[in-house]
Amino acid sequence: MVKETKFYDLLGVSPSASDTELKKAYRKAALKYHPDKNSSPEAAEKFKEISHAYDVLSDDQKREVYDSYGEDGLSGQGGGPGGMGAEDIFSQFFGGSFGGASARPTRGKDIKHAISCTLEELYKGRTAKLALNKTVLCKTCNGLGGKEGKVKKCSGCNGSGTRFVTRQMGPMIQRLQTVCDTCQGTGDICDPKDRCTTCSGKKTQQERKILQVHIDPGMKDGQRVVFSGEGDQEPGITPGDVIFAVDERPHDKFTRKGNDLYYEAEIDLLTALAGGDFAFKHVSGDYVKVTLSSGEVISPGSVKVIERQGMPIYRQGGRGNLFIKFTVKFPANGFADEDKLKQLESILPARAAVSIPKGAEVDEVSVVDVDPYKHNAGSRRDAYDSDEEEGQQGQGVQCASQ
Ligand SMILES: [Zn+2]
Ligand SMILES: [Zn+2]
Repeated sequence: MVKETKFYDLLGVSPSASDTELKKAYRKAALKYHPDKNSSPEAAEKFKEISHAYDVLSDDQKREVYDSYGEDGLSGQGGGPGGMGAEDIFSQFFGGSFGGASARPTRGKDIKHAISCTLEELYKGRTAKLALNKTVLCKTCNGLGGKEGKVKKCSGCNGSGTRFVTRQMGPMIQRLQTVCDTCQGTGDICDPKDRCTTCSGKKTQQERKILQVHIDPGMKDGQRVVFSGEGDQEPGITPGDVIFAVDERPHDKFTRKGNDLYYEAEIDLLTALAGGDFAFKHVSGDYVKVTLSSGEVISPGSVKVIERQGMPIYRQGGRGNLFIKFTVKFPANGFADEDKLKQLESILPARAAVSIPKGAEVDEVSVVDVDPYKHNAGSRRDAYDSDEEEGQQGQGVQCASQ
């Protein structure tokens, strides 16, 4: 039960309204009555009133006082009369440089850690034990800071540990939050002899805690494992969470896209033309053996898929696919003598016919290997209209005119 509802009525919300509802209601009302939008004197007065109401209700401490004692209760507040000016609150919403008058946090910060995982670990899953140094409520005094009943709430800051000071900076009135000097920010006063000796009145202590993080098969980069409420403890606030985020390390052989894996397989020319086996080690740790049937020709750069040999699908069972991109290793120079090459000629499809229009001028030329120094390939690359990657130049064979 609240003592009076005037401020709530001004904003058109119920006394049980959440911070968000208050904010919304204020924003709406402020837009309606702001002097820029509405120049009548009544509107100006109304704007002041709703701003004042919002100033009170958006501040947890002031709202508590207002709910218990009504408007009269506020005049005795340490925060000083007036609080934020209407324009100041308005600037919070509409791009002003205001900051700082936020309510006390009621929930602690989340603690975030990256947990580095290899693809192998994400395939099989693993349990990581991680030590966490955290702040917990002092176990001796249960977070009181001293003997029960001997720790008094600081009257200077009403136990919040902070005070607001108003400072004029040019046309702007800034309201700044500062540490209460009466209690040094602790929010309470205690006789030194009654102070807890374990935490010296700090109410908290450090603790080392081991957390077991379960990385389930199929988890992905960025996926989070949340330990609810395992963040730092502080009196009067709900601890935040400890959040681990998977950081997938790049693999030197496999690339992952979602649940699919990509692998670049190098096969020899004979296998590419006449079929055969090749094998490689999968991230599962097993070897995968692939048989290419004879009669199927694998072109360099072609892609095939091995179904259900990708990553496990997180908590669903099944696996993604494994895509294989082929590179073909050609034999070295002079791999076969003239006779053998003649045999090849009888086996492979015939050479493509040379196509030169009748009557055209023809330069008979030969090709040589590229010598980066002699041919200065770097500066003349674009002249060849080459799409080779940087660093690979010199491997290609190019036309050289004489
Ligand atoms: Zn203690
Ligand atoms: Zn204080």
